[in-house]
Amino acid sequence: MILDKEKLRANLDEVIWQIEEARISVSEHHIVQLVAVGKYTEVENITTLYELGQRAFGENQVQQLKARMAALEELPLEWHMIGTLQKNKINNLIDLRPSLLHSLDSLSLAVELNKKLEAKETTMHALLQINAAREETKSGVSPEEAADLYRQIKESCPHIHLKGVMTIGAHTEETALVQKSFEITHTIFESLGKEGASICSMGMSRDYPLAIKCGSNLVRIGSALFKQ
Ligand SMILES: *Cc1c(COP(=O)(O)O)cnc(C)c1O
Repeated sequence: MILDKEKLRANLDEVIWQIEEARISVSEHHIVQLVAVGKYTEVENITTLYELGQRAFGENQVQQLKARMAALEELPLEWHMIGTLQKNKINNLIDLRPSLLHSLDSLSLAVELNKKLEAKETTMHALLQINAAREETKSGVSPEEAADLYRQIKESCPHIHLKGVMTIGAHTEETALVQKSFEITHTIFESLGKEGASICSMGMSRDYPLAIKCGSNLVRIGSALFKQ
């Protein structure tokens, strides 16, 4: 469904307003980046959002990311890979040179990615994904091992530049549980400050105001931006 510009403008204004309200309640110095997630929408809507001022976009599949980067290569966009990365897609992703990989979710993936980055003589910015809600359907490292793994990857994978952490909030209507998963992740993020962690990627359409109040400084939003 291709949306008209006024609809997209209204959606974007609403999201920016909600981000603003939440971030001000933390601190006027708390800055939050918005990454627009285009996975369920048409490429035309991404172009319109660009015209409205949005620059950072995310996709959760390497194939789709590749197609969209190619279709929109004329535009000065920043691309984020936010979905689970299959090992057989690592080389494809490296060739796309994304701004940030949000979903580094195991030591073995990090080792494999580092090896392939080394072979291609390049580097990649990445976040360690934490499965803070301990949901079996979600990828990510457990909260207990997250800080140690972060340090281990930093030491043993020099071609990966770790920038912080990412989580997907607990999938439940119970706000207290969603909040808990964000708080757990933010606590780990803070403990990694001396390791240089600067990005705490949490919050999607259903829960981004809460995520920001728990310390998120990057939200990944799809359906709230592209709703009809
Ligand atoms: C799809 C997706 C989002 C955005 O989801 P919405 O609910 O549409 O805002 C954010 N993060 C990840 C990892 C996703 O896969």
